[in-house]
Amino acid sequence: MWRIENQCPQCGADTCLEETQRLFTCPFCRVKLFITVDDYFRYFLSPTAPGTEEAIFVPYWRLKGMFFSYDGASVHTGLVDVSHNAAMLDFLPSSLGLRSQTLRLRFVSPEIRGSFIEPACSPGDILSTIEDPFNPETPLLSEKTFVGESVSMIFSPIYVKDRAAYDGILREKMAVLPEAVSGALIGNRGKAKGTMSFIPSLCPDCGWDMDGDPESVVLTCGNCRSAWGASRKGFEKVPCSFLPLEEDSLLYLPFWKMEAEIKGIRLDSYADAVRFFNWPKAIKREWEELPFCWLTPAFKINPELYLRISQRMTFQAIIPSLKSDLPGGSLYPVTLPLKESFETLRMILAHSAVSKKDMAVTFPSLRFAMKKSGLVYWPFHVSGTELIRPDRQLSIQANALKWGKNI
Ligand SMILES: [Zn+2]
Ligand SMILES: [Zn+2]
Repeated sequence: MWRIENQCPQCGADTCLEETQRLFTCPFCRVKLFITVDDYFRYFLSPTAPGTEEAIFVPYWRLKGMFFSYDGASVHTGLVDVSHNAAMLDFLPSSLGLRSQTLRLRFVSPEIRGSFIEPACSPGDILSTIEDPFNPETPLLSEKTFVGESVSMIFSPIYVKDRAAYDGILREKMAVLPEAVSGALIGNRGKAKGTMSFIPSLCPDCGWDMDGDPESVVLTCGNCRSAWGASRKGFEKVPCSFLPLEEDSLLYLPFWKMEAEIKGIRLDSYADAVRFFNWPKAIKREWEELPFCWLTPAFKINPELYLRISQRMTFQAIIPSLKSDLPGGSLYPVTLPLKESFETLRMILAHSAVSKKDMAVTFPSLRFAMKKSGLVYWPFHVSGTELIRPDRQLSIQANALKWGKNI
């Protein structure tokens, strides 16, 4: 787990954040702030004992999360945890190795002295180079989906002296550079980009101090019973509903409920779903009008379980009537953003399709568009070390949830 050094914006105390932390509580002044960024987080490693040379910060993409690949027959899952040279400069190491785990990172801000090199490739370019260990030699398809728990950029310092590049941390010579390259590096005056903000975690509706875990991407207000996710403008309300508690359930797990328009197959209503998946059910007339909903975990969990839980929640039964509100009781934190969950729908569909052959043909032309979304809290019975949901024939090991927090 990476750590980020950060000064408390309120009291100035030196504090430390986890890489995935979004809700910051200052241990000194107790201020509670939610951290947001425009696009992705940018960190840098501090140069050691800086000399007179100006530090040149070179970018590395940092990608961490779940990885799904579909080869036309089945969906495979894995975890990605890589850093990769984003400057496309040959003399730089291709990854940061263990450096970012052993050294403390800091947030990039416009005051940082030095020049910042722009990335020359996108996270997608990096992912396409990742070997898929599961794919057969000649797969029918090679479709990949990455669900980023963390997509960020880390700047590592170098400096250039007498046409040679030096590591800004070890202060060792890395390479002698062609004149054009050293000239371009020295001449670069790129300033740090990106804005991040710390916003007070107060409910925009009633001003109450909201609840959340350090890794929560949605905060809840216990006073006016509302839920809020971060947006570029600050907080944005998230519609919530829940399955009313019929017995003593102990824990509510959050799911993203999505209605999607899919180009390529007809899956608008539950009647469509019965036809598409050959469910052994007689179609009731009202099902033609009942929008088909996807339910995917709104919390981090290992990708194989993610796929299984999504399948059971979405395809096991028609969604019962829900109450529009935030439930009382124990709520598991929302740690997986809606946008990321939406990206997985095509993989859940491929995994669940009855006709594998048809799916392989249809898959490349499938296009998903979000129609409607919200959070649904589903009550789970806690039995020993398991969380159980009989109506979905689902049991989740409690430690899978804890584990999921550290993906
Ligand atoms: Zn403070
Ligand atoms: Zn409120």
